[in-house]
Amino acid sequence: MSFVPPGTGWPGDPATAETPVALDPADVRRLAAACGTLAELTAEQSVCRACPRLVTWREEVAQVKRRAFADETYWGRPVPGWGAERPSILLVGLAPAAHGGNRTGRIFTGDRSGDWLFASLHRSGLATQETSTHAGDGQKLLGTRVLASVRCAPPANKPTPEEKAACFPWMAREMALVAPTVRVVVALGGYAWQAMWPALKDAGYTLPRSRPAFGHGAEVEVRHGGSPVTLIGCYHPSQQNTFTGRVTAQMLDEIFTRARALAV
Ligand code: SF4
Repeated sequence: MSFVPPGTGWPGDPATAETPVALDPADVRRLAAACGTLAELTAEQSVCRACPRLVTWREEVAQVKRRAFADETYWGRPVPGWGAERPSILLVGLAPAAHGGNRTGRIFTGDRSGDWLFASLHRSGLATQETSTHAGDGQKLLGTRVLASVRCAPPANKPTPEEKAACFPWMAREMALVAPTVRVVVALGGYAWQAMWPALKDAGYTLPRSRPAFGHGAEVEVRHGGSPVTLIGCYHPSQQNTFTGRVTAQMLDEIFTRARALAV
């Protein structure tokens, strides 16, 4: 089997064998719109098969594996949103990594970017442990939820415009379901910054006419249902950015400490 069958005991698997499976973009739109709870939504996200290229890729990677993880079972499914059910802080990334989230089943878990991210979240008081290594490791986010704008690992980390569009309703619905409590949204990288604006609009946020430029520490105040919400830009803790010093641990800590201060 090239992926974990739903409901077979993987820790935290939100789906069961009965969870409806989206087979094309129209299914994604229909199923996402009908989800009234995060439990339902994450279950359906986690079994989606709407993008043929990504389904093939995620399952091939899960079967072939990387040598270092040859003894592990790969998740091989879409990686759903994860964290607090009523978050005040929402972190938005682009897509899971082939041998990271696609292996562990948890977003930003199992690769170097995730190591940097969770260490900083822990230092900033937003995660209970400094590492996030695998489903069932006991890690918990505090008042914080993480999601990706595309839920499946794409080849070369580059989803196509069609794949981004197909996955859009999952993100928009998740943003709408958590909007009543969210006070801060942090975009991890320029791609996430671009992707989140239409999803925020779809989720009922009132946004400025022109989209402000992305930058590390860029802040924009928007509103949802009369409440102020701050959008913050943060450079992605990618290996390239952390190797070159474009992002440092201190820079990440500053963003998450600021997000936490705004969220209370
Ligand atoms: S990228 Fe999104 S829409 Fe496409 S198969 Fe994965 S979960 Fe479904």
